[in-house]
Amino acid sequence: MSKKIIVQKFGGTSVGSPEKIKAVANRTSKLLDDNKSIVIVVSAMGNTTNQLVKLAKEITTEPNPREYDALVSTGENVSASLLAMSFQSLGINAISLTGAQAGILTQDLHAKAKILTIKTERIQKELNNNKVVIITGFQGINPNSDITTIGRGGSDTSAVALAAALECEECEIYTDVDGVYTTDPRKIKDAQKLTEVSYEEMLEMASLGAKVLHPRAVECAKENNIILHVRSSFELTEGTRVKEANKLEVNKPVTGVAVKENEAIISMIGVPDTPGIAGEIFSELANNGINVDMIIQNVLEKTDSNNISFSIAEDDLDQTKKITKSIANKLNCKLLTDTSIAKISCVGIGMISKPGTASKMFTALGQNNINILRITTSEIKISCAINQEDAQKALEILHNEFELT
Ligand code: ADP
Ligand code: ASP
Ligand code: MG
Repeated sequence: MSKKIIVQKFGGTSVGSPEKIKAVANRTSKLLDDNKSIVIVVSAMGNTTNQLVKLAKEITTEPNPREYDALVSTGENVSASLLAMSFQSLGINAISLTGAQAGILTQDLHAKAKILTIKTERIQKELNNNKVVIITGFQGINPNSDITTIGRGGSDTSAVALAAALECEECEIYTDVDGVYTTDPRKIKDAQKLTEVSYEEMLEMASLGAKVLHPRAVECAKENNIILHVRSSFELTEGTRVKEANKLEVNKPVTGVAVKENEAIISMIGVPDTPGIAGEIFSELANNGINVDMIIQNVLEKTDSNNISFSIAEDDLDQTKKITKSIANKLNCKLLTDTSIAKISCVGIGMISKPGTASKMFTALGQNNINILRITTSEIKISCAINQEDAQKALEILHNEFELT
């Protein structure tokens, strides 16, 4: 009978020092037996990736994308090798593999590539030789064999994609909190740990700022029906399981509140009202891997033009401005940008059957003098763009209002 493969992912803080790396090896070594094979995905140690990004920026404000990925991917190589050495010093056979060695193939796009496929032969060979296989998260290679990275926080996605390729039922995400909470427990002290959360809710929360999971990791887990177990690297307690929604009726309209800071709003004023223009703008952004949200188009009375505005991450501002500027020049329209925006969102499948959630959210913000700049909704989320300086206050208000404490 073939052994059961377990995929574990350890994030940056969990491998932040040699002591912590040794502790990871110690913890996992206790799980090893004749019926299991272990694959570990690691992030870079602590703050390493930020430091690498900073180094690149010290050389140039516009680093060449290929070289940028070659540089920022190196953090994961360090932690993977150190973890392999830690297992070896415990007398356990282990090997580290880079994204390329592990067969992780991505799109030909830098800094935000999507994983296309994983050729697992090498991993399987090492597992068959009874080795713990340690794989660098965050990186892969494109069709030219150049190193690519898959987006900040992307090691979660590497782990889930590996779990899918290796046909696992569950993927364990070890991190510096002991599960998914009703909101970031570092921002609200009495946030509550959730035992379970549905893929849909987690996908919204992650996309809307709950950085405990990379959004694409949740998407990949849902597509492949893999349960994500988010748990603490430092304690043995059970964490939160992200899985198919529980069919029983949900009591609360809101499961969690998420905040995303450092957003920007781009407005294109006086866009000609002709078919195909919105398609052109957003295709160009999509081709460059820029994630767009809160798209609003207003039709101006008695004119043949529109205003189109949308939000993006501030990190993408320069690139977005470049793209929209060239389109705006061509169309002869004006471009405005607002920065230091935060997006606050209430998420919950319970709101589908409970009318009044939006009005409760807007009223609570209004009564506390928080100005709402934009609103977007889906079946299970309501998001408001607000000024960044109001973000913490808004979080406290909404977390209380929806009785999440
Ligand atoms: P890792 O380095 O392990 O990938 P991250 O820093 O990416 O860890 O994610 C863990 C952090 O996510 C926590 O320290 C916490 O501050 C933050 N976080 C944000 N929202 C939530 C939430 N709803 N539940 C738990 N943690 C959250
Ligand atoms: N080290 C990468 C980052 O800091 C990937 C990750 O941590 O998941 O973004
Ligand atoms: Mg992370």
